[in-house]
Amino acid sequence: MAGDDNNASSVTRQKVAAAKQYIENHYRAKAKSLQERRERRSLLERNLANADVSEEEQHTLIKDLERKETEYMRRQRHKMGVDDFELLTIIGRGAFGEVRLCRHKENGEIYAMKKLKKSEMLSRGQVEHVRAERNLLAEVDTHCIVKLHYSFQDAEYLYLIMEYLPGGDMMTLLMRKDTLTEDEARFYVAQSVLAIESIHKHNYIHRDIKPDNLLLDKNGHMKLSDFGLCKPLDCNTLSTLHENEEDEPREPMDIDERLVSPSTGSSWRSQQEQLLHWQKNRRMLAFSTVGTPDYIAPEVLLKKGYGMDCDWWSLGAIMFEMLVGYPPFYSDEPMNTCRKIVNWRTHLKFPQEARLSPEAKDLICRLLCDVEHRLGSRDTNEIKAITYLYFFQNLAHPFFRGIDWDHLYEVEAAFKPEVNGELDTQNFQKFEEAGTQGDLPSKSGQWRKVCLLDFRDVNFVGYTYKNIDLFKAKNSPVGKFSRHPTSLL
Ligand code: ADP
Ligand code: MG
Repeated sequence: MAGDDNNASSVTRQKVAAAKQYIENHYRAKAKSLQERRERRSLLERNLANADVSEEEQHTLIKDLERKETEYMRRQRHKMGVDDFELLTIIGRGAFGEVRLCRHKENGEIYAMKKLKKSEMLSRGQVEHVRAERNLLAEVDTHCIVKLHYSFQDAEYLYLIMEYLPGGDMMTLLMRKDTLTEDEARFYVAQSVLAIESIHKHNYIHRDIKPDNLLLDKNGHMKLSDFGLCKPLDCNTLSTLHENEEDEPREPMDIDERLVSPSTGSSWRSQQEQLLHWQKNRRMLAFSTVGTPDYIAPEVLLKKGYGMDCDWWSLGAIMFEMLVGYPPFYSDEPMNTCRKIVNWRTHLKFPQEARLSPEAKDLICRLLCDVEHRLGSRDTNEIKAITYLYFFQNLAHPFFRGIDWDHLYEVEAAFKPEVNGELDTQNFQKFEEAGTQGDLPSKSGQWRKVCLLDFRDVNFVGYTYKNIDLFKAKNSPVGKFSRHPTSLL
């Protein structure tokens, strides 16, 4: 028997585990909801007994509750499916499927529907990651994170029904603006701090924080999205990532860097040239199966074992891009970008033309550094604390000076996107319907081949969760739909 177990494919094991978890969750949720129903009835009876209400009225009120309970159960039993939604414009396409605007046929609400192809996820061992995405979105209820309303599946796909954020993503904003001012960057970096902090508090690591996953609501406030579909590199290829640092003279930070790829021998570029080059390639990288590696922390690439600190590194890379126009380790070839990240000491440089303030440079350098020295690594409060701490101790780290952390989501955003009505998708790229994929960049190439060698990541420490009752009925029994318990297989 043990031999059989060993022979069972990992896909089968994943299916068995998912089925077991589904059944357990299903019966646990059923027992709990029955218990809650009894409690609601006896609470009403107690209240009525103490109140000055006629027997006839009591009878009517109890009957009313029972009617609502039955209606609630009926809605619970209704298996939500893709047919409950009118499918509208496609607003995103990624590694596992597409994201499109949709309207709930019954309540008329507009949502963003993310559709993920199960076979793709299974073949790449990404099921756990997708499950984590769904769980995280359902569990963490904060305005810094895109809200998940429902999830369900059919034979071929999984569906996540999320709030629609019509302001577009940060990648698109950065492509429109080239660079942000320090005031503008301060706003989005500070909101990112709050978002990262909120997921870390729930013991999740995002590990794939990048501008395409930072979405803007209609007021321009930023929310983090796309949890779980992480894209690690294969360790076997990484021996080639280390450069012999002895061979390369270590240049001091902050010299005028023309980002060059020594290994590809491409010519030196000014900041402007580099920016144009980056923008030309940006969308193609975003839509490739594995995405861009530009924001991934070195310890993630090296699979050394990593923790929450890797998200702070990504934020450093994004902040650099906001102020300089392209990310700090950009190179013609993604593999060279990985090499530069792993050898960041040699490659992290600020172009003089970008004219960053010393405070901005300091913050970036304290995010793009060794885990031991990285801000936020010991305590997620540290990044915020530098404002208070340094301010009070007069040690001067003023990058965040003036930020009111507690009211950041109430103040006016750095940019207010133009949004005309709930169906407006002007802040997104146009996508053709499937079958007419003329706008899709090619998904082939060396980078993809390298990365597909191994998608399973044994060092993946992030997606643990504490005391989560996945399918707890958070809504009152009346009126609203409940979240559907969904086994991901
Ligand atoms: P992937 O795993 O393929 O990167 P994402 O969840 O990041 O999938 O979605 C891809 C793109 O779709 C995003 O970069 C964004 O432009 C758009 N998108 C995703 N979710 C939403 C949403 N809730 N509201 C608006 N746009 C979204
Ligand atoms: Mg994404």
